[in-house]
Amino acid sequence: MTFNTSLRKKPLVLVVDDDLSLRLSIGAAMEKAGFQVIDAENGREGLTLFQSKKPDLILLDVMMPEMDGFETCAAIRKLPEGKYTQILMVTGLDDIQSTERSFEVGANDFVAKPLNLMLLGHRGKYMLRAGQAFQELNKSKRRLAKTQELAHLGNWDFDLLNMNLHCSPETCRLLGLSEASHITYKDFLSPVIAQDQGRAKEVIDRAIRTKTPFSINYRIVLPDGVLQHVLNRGEIFFNANGEAETLLGAIQNVTQLKRAEEEIRMLAFYDGLTGLANRMLFMARLEQEITASKRHKRNFALLFLDLDHFKRINDTFSHHIGDLLLKNIAENLRENIRSSDAVSKPAPDHSDTLIARLGGDEFIILLSDISEPENAAIVARRILQEMQKSHNLEGHEVSVTTSIGISIFPTDGEEGEALLQHADSAMYHAKDTGRNNYQFYKESLNAAVLERFSLENDLKHALKKNEFILYYQPQINLATREIVGAEALIRWMHPKRGMVPPDKFIPIAEKNGLIIDINKWVIQTACEQNDIWRQNGLNPTRIAINLSGYQLARQNIIQTIEEALQTRNLEAKHLEVEITENILMQDTADTIQVLNQLRDLNLKIALDDFGTGYSSLSYLTNFPVDIIKIDRSFVMECTELKNNLVIIKAIIAMGHSLGMKIVAEGIETREQLELLKGFNADEGQGYYFSPPVSQDKFAALLRHGHL
Ligand code: C2E
Ligand code: MG
Ligand code: MG
Repeated sequence: MTFNTSLRKKPLVLVVDDDLSLRLSIGAAMEKAGFQVIDAENGREGLTLFQSKKPDLILLDVMMPEMDGFETCAAIRKLPEGKYTQILMVTGLDDIQSTERSFEVGANDFVAKPLNLMLLGHRGKYMLRAGQAFQELNKSKRRLAKTQELAHLGNWDFDLLNMNLHCSPETCRLLGLSEASHITYKDFLSPVIAQDQGRAKEVIDRAIRTKTPFSINYRIVLPDGVLQHVLNRGEIFFNANGEAETLLGAIQNVTQLKRAEEEIRMLAFYDGLTGLANRMLFMARLEQEITASKRHKRNFALLFLDLDHFKRINDTFSHHIGDLLLKNIAENLRENIRSSDAVSKPAPDHSDTLIARLGGDEFIILLSDISEPENAAIVARRILQEMQKSHNLEGHEVSVTTSIGISIFPTDGEEGEALLQHADSAMYHAKDTGRNNYQFYKESLNAAVLERFSLENDLKHALKKNEFILYYQPQINLATREIVGAEALIRWMHPKRGMVPPDKFIPIAEKNGLIIDINKWVIQTACEQNDIWRQNGLNPTRIAINLSGYQLARQNIIQTIEEALQTRNLEAKHLEVEITENILMQDTADTIQVLNQLRDLNLKIALDDFGTGYSSLSYLTNFPVDIIKIDRSFVMECTELKNNLVIIKAIIAMGHSLGMKIVAEGIETREQLELLKGFNADEGQGYYFSPPVSQDKFAALLRHGHL
């Protein structure tokens, strides 16, 4: 029922006609049909009466002076309360035009004079019923829209016969689509974020194709850039003949729900005090890590930490101070892991480290993808060092040490529980050996790592103590057998260990940053040596130095080289730089800049050990490389292995076509020499000519000039 009629016993009809007799007869007929009647003699009066009485039905004469029926009807429809009132136009003219006009101005129906008064009452009643049904439908539509708005839920339907999509206003609002325009299936999916697009489309497409229900969660971006989570569900609606007719769907904004889920996850998986992962999350991640490491054949480490004498802190101060200390330590661990990761892994990788608090004063760290166990030791050492700093907790100076046990996957176990247990027992071992230290589960690792750290320790003083020397290996023009240059190769004369080869200490120096000073020393020494030879009457030769891969861009290499050349009054052609592919694989933009600066100095750049790494052609074309050095491993077997022959031939051809010079490394036999010469390699070096030798011996070779 409408609002007005619900308060009235009888429905109210307004009769508007300028003909008094007609007004009276219509009024009587309508009263007889059960209406209450009011009347007006022209449009203007009718309009005023409408506003004050709000009738349910209006019988409106078309032909009236002043304001005719069409105008009156249009005016009523413009009023907010005039939207749903039933209006019956009474036309005197039985022509198409005025009936059409009636509908245009918003009338519900029309009737032509002369009137059948008997039927008019019935018609009025019928119109009221239809009007009420229409109003009810409208109301429920509005109620639905409001409910959908409140629930952030919209509906949509997809007509499977003609592929038409219809979206409710809330669906449009939810997806950030304009209600006004026709929405296509493509529009419907357009707000879905790129990562979810494929999946969303596939699921809905499949539902349409197979005529089965679906339910899917995905993310959308609104025009203002806000990300939202939605749940979209659909079901097939079959018609009376059992044919799939429509896909009916409901889409809901579940962003809040997702947030709540996230909060619940936080509570369930994270430690309330420190915000670190808890045991449950840790164990789950550990299992994942085991699976991933098995698949990719990687190692990872568990570091089990237990604070030393933590109970004393709780007893001496308070539990509150103890809690604050644990929070501080958690924060320190987080920062520490970040910085030590950077040190132990100069190359970018997918490191995914997790720190968890297992309870009380026990923490555990999962160091993923460690190339060697000593990386875990490096982290452990840093933690021990960091721990020793004291904490100021509400005015109390508190300090604590920790004991750390380390287990390595897969050496110390291939299952989570075993790895955890072994890290734990290694931690007890650390406690037994005086606390404030770390221990590997495997004894042999402790020894190996100790050995390495002692080497590292000595390395720190090697430069100052002048323990490095450069050896020089001649580089020969293969056609003329002339010495055209030398490669400078570093040696460490260790006071106790004797001569340590570069492969043993350069990787260490790269990890701890000492390489920067070593590179500088090499550049200066090579230039100095060249100058000395010149002073001894030998032509200055070309010396190639090896630049190792550690953060080339941050080494100030350019300045060092410029200064060294200047000090010794040498030209760019007297120095050459050898780099390996892994330098090129690092942060490219910075690296290219350094290489271009080298080139600006007119220095030649050689790509060392070519063929062992990625050997990608793109390196040759993207970087300013002048010389390719074919790796020794290819040359070594080139006379025996057909495959190597093919590769060497290809590298030489490729290099030459790019205008590069080819140097073959590690030529040991006459056969190899002949072969490479035959392939048109430009230069070579190797034991066949001479091993790397001291500066004096090299001077002697230079004097001779040929090999
Ligand atoms: P590399 O630059 O590829 O140097 C060639 C290595 O092959 C040298 O080993 C050399 O002694 C060896 N070699 C030369 N001819 C032959 C041969 O005919 N047969 C065999 N079996 N070996 C030959 P070394 O001197 O031990 O150097 C090893 C690596 O250490 C070098 O490889 C280079 O990557 C690095 N390195 C050497 N000196 C320096 C340096 O001053 N700075 C840096 N950053 N790295 C250096
Ligand atoms: Mg080299
Ligand atoms: Mg090499």
